[in-house]
Amino acid sequence: MTTENSTPDAPTIDARLREDVSARLAAAPDGVLPIVQAGNPVLRYPAMPYTGQLGPLLPDLIDAMRETMRAAPGVGLAAPQIGIALAIAVVEDAGAPDDDPRERSALPFRVLVNPAYAATSDDEVAFYEGCLSVRGWSAVRRRARSVRLTGTDQHGAEIDEVLTGWPARIVQHETDHLRGELYIDRAEMRSLANDEAMGRWWGTTPDVRPAAQVLGFDLH
Ligand code: ZN
Repeated sequence: MTTENSTPDAPTIDARLREDVSARLAAAPDGVLPIVQAGNPVLRYPAMPYTGQLGPLLPDLIDAMRETMRAAPGVGLAAPQIGIALAIAVVEDAGAPDDDPRERSALPFRVLVNPAYAATSDDEVAFYEGCLSVRGWSAVRRRARSVRLTGTDQHGAEIDEVLTGWPARIVQHETDHLRGELYIDRAEMRSLANDEAMGRWWGTTPDVRPAAQVLGFDLH
């Protein structure tokens, strides 16, 4: 006969989280995880602040996020995009030539833990943007040209720096994911274009003025 005293403790929330992450990593032996798509509730809830819940699993999760981002390919990936509701994101961009109007300077691989940002001025810029969780579509999104980024890296070291141009856009996009937002929430919907239309009409230059004129939306 069993008694209440012999019942093992229920798994803690952290233990369940570790089990879930372990299972997801084990299901993707090549290190590339499935990316969830818009409509999945995990993309619409604020992620939990990361407070060390994963312990020694964290480096494995980061490796998988990096490989998943590179395979997509993309320039950023937030943990909710692989179904894990923790405030962790990875970013990386090779950059573009200096005359690119997006100011797309190289952004070496880095991990953002519990990131936050604030615009450093009223200066905003509008460019076509896409998301690995809204696959097949792009739209023009106005964003702060320059932001102060705060948070920590994966080792707990403080981040407090100002980013400008495309790197600023990338960290805004990924931080928004961790708040349950998608770029389309405040995109210019008249600009919405699928991959075929982007390739045919708007993908050849980062300058969105022609799209604004032809599709009928304001840039200011
Ligand atoms: Zn995204």
